[in-house]
Amino acid sequence: MKRPVIDLGECVDCEACLELCPTVFRWNNAGYIEVVELPEYPEEEVEEAIKNCPADCITWEEA
Ligand code: SF4
Repeated sequence: MKRPVIDLGECVDCEACLELCPTVFRWNNAGYIEVVELPEYPEEEVEEAIKNCPADCITWEEA
């Protein structure tokens, strides 16, 4: 199974991933974007977020 991960050091808080893929990305209480824990991730939606992330900080990780 693979899951998306965010390099928070590069994230510019643009919310593109939230708009494109709200089932996977959300704000956490600390004010950072995070990946929701899901049994599996919608590959096409996540790919859209990856393509549209201006900071190129979303990648897949083999879990
Ligand atoms: S699209 Fe990329 S830069 Fe924008 S909020 Fe999401 S992870 Fe951060």
